[in-house]
Amino acid sequence: MFDVEKIRKDFPILERKIWDDKPLVYLDNAATTQKPKAVIESLVNYYENYNANIHRGVHKLAEEATSVYELVRDKVKNLVSCKDNSEVIFTRNTTESINLLAHSLGESLNEGDEILLTEMEHHSNIIPWYLLRNRKKINIRFVPITDQYELDYEKLEKLVTKKTKIISVTHKSNVLGVINDIGRISTGTSGCRPLLIVDAAQSVPHMKINFADLGCDFLVFSSHKMCGPTGVGVLVGKKESLEKIPPFLGGGEMVRKVTFDNFTSNDVPWKFEAGTPNIADVIAFGTAIEYLEKIGLENIHKYEIELTKYALEKLSGFNFLKIYNSRGVGIITFSNPVVHPHDIATIVDQEGVAVRAGHHCAQPLMSRLGVLATTRASFYFYNTKKEIDIFIDALQKAFDYFEVGACKELKQERVDLVSVQKKDK
Ligand SMILES: *Cc1c(COP(=O)(O)O)cnc(C)c1O
Repeated sequence: MFDVEKIRKDFPILERKIWDDKPLVYLDNAATTQKPKAVIESLVNYYENYNANIHRGVHKLAEEATSVYELVRDKVKNLVSCKDNSEVIFTRNTTESINLLAHSLGESLNEGDEILLTEMEHHSNIIPWYLLRNRKKINIRFVPITDQYELDYEKLEKLVTKKTKIISVTHKSNVLGVINDIGRISTGTSGCRPLLIVDAAQSVPHMKINFADLGCDFLVFSSHKMCGPTGVGVLVGKKESLEKIPPFLGGGEMVRKVTFDNFTSNDVPWKFEAGTPNIADVIAFGTAIEYLEKIGLENIHKYEIELTKYALEKLSGFNFLKIYNSRGVGIITFSNPVVHPHDIATIVDQEGVAVRAGHHCAQPLMSRLGVLATTRASFYFYNTKKEIDIFIDALQKAFDYFEVGACKELKQERVDLVSVQKKDK
């Protein structure tokens, strides 16, 4: 498939030692990913060689910076197969992209209109809608998940009514790792078709996405979760939808003409990019896209399935764990009633293993799962089975320390989940 040891050499940070002598085992990729040298060099190259503000200057540097920045739009267009590079808008992150949509789509909503979210959403796909609800007196409903930690598509269909104006759903849960069938959502709601927003923060970095095939109206994701720098997000939208909605932020760049009385907006996509954009990071994001495409997103996805299977199999040795994963890829979340996730994360950190403990910005989902917090290991293409072994040994140390092996009552449930995963493959 690809040579993971060779790939690891592209990432300077993977040579780091933690606590003097432990190799870094970075399993917190759902929070942010590491950066290959090419991306870091692209940032430095911009600042050393053609730093200038874009779109306004006629001088050579400004022209160079503008054309490289605008070329990244084409790279995103090719990455997600949307129709035109003007359908690609740069924001600060996924969160800002969703706030933009909530603000700008929200303008045309009326009292009593409904927005449909799911029980597995990240806070960034909940709070912007709560803020809108406060302004517009709209209603928000949540599609439940099943006991197998998947979206309940039947309930979803029943929840869509004439009042439903927007459905905003995660493509892949940052907690459960499950990949939602967006096609089932878009076709399932024909007749009274609400706008469909897909939070692809966890999918675009890990698998080949085709915007047209997904059948959604808007797609949002973040550069930093796909080997790019922080501070860059993307909003992809159908041109006709983007042209219809008002701008989010106002200022320079997003206007065509301003008088003492009023203004006319610039064309899409610049209409949504007020002020000097994050030029350097957008350019380095372009390098990250090139890097990922060289490895191949299909390869990345296949490799992560393999890593997930391997890790689940190893974790099945801990028969006292509740694992919230039946079909998830690349993300494994688990808990145990005896030992707190923060204690697990702290102990495995002593072995150089970085995992996440907490609510993962999904408190409503935590309450649905009946816990306050969980531990989460999340993989990327530079992780190895050897690293998973180190993680499992570190976990063993944590469980030995807290003597959790003594409680075995969760065994049956765990076996069922692992077997679902196996059957699926
Ligand atoms: C990380 C994440 C977000 C938020 O991304 P930011 O870059 O922090 O704005 C939203 N949704 C999902 C599913 C995520 O994993």
